Amino acid sequence: MTDVETSQAAVALVEERVTRLLTAHPAATTDPATFLGAQFDLGLAWVQFDEGFGGLGLPPSLQEAVDTPLRRAGAPHPYMRNPIGYGMGAPTVVAHGTEAQKRRYLRPLFTGQEVWCQMFSEPGAGSDVAGLSTRAVRDGDEWVVNGQKVWTTLAHLSHWGMLVARTDPDQPKHKGLTYFVVDMHAPGVEVKPLRQMTGEAEFNEVYFTDVRIPDAERLGDVGEGWRVSLTTLMHERVSIGGAVVPQGAGPISEAVTLYKQRATASGDDHARRERLLQLWSRSEVLRLTNIRAGVARTRGVPGPEGSIGKIAFAELNKDIYSFCIDLLGPAGMLYGDYATTRPVTAGFSADVRRAFLRSRANSIEGGTTEVMKNILGERVLGLPGDVRADKDRPWKDVPRS
Ligand SMILES: Cc1cc2nc3c(=O)[nH]c(=O)nc-3n(C[C@H](O)[C@H](O)[C@H](O)COP(=O)(O)OP(=O)(O)OC[C@H]3O[C@@H](n4cnc5c(N)ncnc54)[C@H](O)[C@@H]3O)c2cc1C
Repeated sequence: MTDVETSQAAVALVEERVTRLLTAHPAATTDPATFLGAQFDLGLAWVQFDEGFGGLGLPPSLQEAVDTPLRRAGAPHPYMRNPIGYGMGAPTVVAHGTEAQKRRYLRPLFTGQEVWCQMFSEPGAGSDVAGLSTRAVRDGDEWVVNGQKVWTTLAHLSHWGMLVARTDPDQPKHKGLTYFVVDMHAPGVEVKPLRQMTGEAEFNEVYFTDVRIPDAERLGDVGEGWRVSLTTLMHERVSIGGAVVPQGAGPISEAVTLYKQRATASGDDHARRERLLQLWSRSEVLRLTNIRAGVARTRGVPGPEGSIGKIAFAELNKDIYSFCIDLLGPAGMLYGDYATTRPVTAGFSADVRRAFLRSRANSIEGGTTEVMKNILGERVLGLPGDVRADKDRPWKDVPRS
């Protein structure tokens, strides 16, 4: 077959499976977990994954041929139920997990029956996550973990956590790490809420006191934790900044709606219209850039260029919601009651005021804008590297507070 015939056959296969899914499981009347389970079994969860693991072994760009008709049919989206598992956990398991781990983790992750969280950041290690201190010590077929993580989104709902811990303090910081999948309900795991400026406690502190993790729940080799973490981090940037929504949809649609309401109520305003058009153009550039990046990506892990979408998304989202608050005028200050709540998903809001407050975190979560610029400077543009005095010293000899 020619390349064109092969790609036509792939599209036909995907379309046939989507039709089969929607016929057997009408989106409006099927409960979300059942629908998503059927989607996984038909290989339509992540089309680029292998058959039997939620995929069909096809290019990832074909996922759009699944997502668009499912969105139109009102089907549940796995991201909403399990954003960290779906966007970051699954590709990490596929890249580094054993056959048994893929069978155990992927399906309930996709259906949202088992929510995942990411436990990288610590009070003393955020941007410099490789400097982390949480220790894992081997004890036969188990590891014993002690330490603290912080800013752990959705830990309060999670069944599994992606944990990076230090297993060899005698090695330089990047070399003495190992990656685990930890049962968040294991004895010794304690999750405490952290309140954000929205009033919500979307993230948490997580404490580990003599937590025992079976060696079977290690992801990748001992000492290879940094390499496995990079897979998670690369996917995190794309997961946060790489979404492709229909033209004019997403945050910019809220700005357009508010602008129209305001223009009707108090007449048009050229300066504001110009600001809106600039934001609309930036949204469209980001959308097209993400489409191009998605098409260019083959089956592997996204590269450092994923930082482009992450920076652009973060800065744009903040600017769009600032504009919305300006449009609201004094009403922009009338925000809820700041009661502490525990959200069931991360980062989404129907309330523009909450979205404005939440958007301030976009340039911090998943790596700060400054750190993204370092990555682009060094790994994409080839500029001289940041000064890293601790890179080759044993971790235990690096001074820390
Ligand atoms: C809403 C939200 C959700 C989060 N969820 C999670 C989660 O689920 N799991 C998880 O593990 N973490 C999570 N985080 C943590 C997040 O990854 C860190 O906050 C982030 O990496 C920054 O680390 P830090 O807060 O320790 O800041 P620091 O690293 O202390 O940075 C402080 C400032 O210094 C700047 N800076 C640091 N190093 C450099 C450098 N080399 N060059 C230039 N500037 C630099 C930073 O840009 C920043 O402005 C979340 C954060 C937020 C806000």
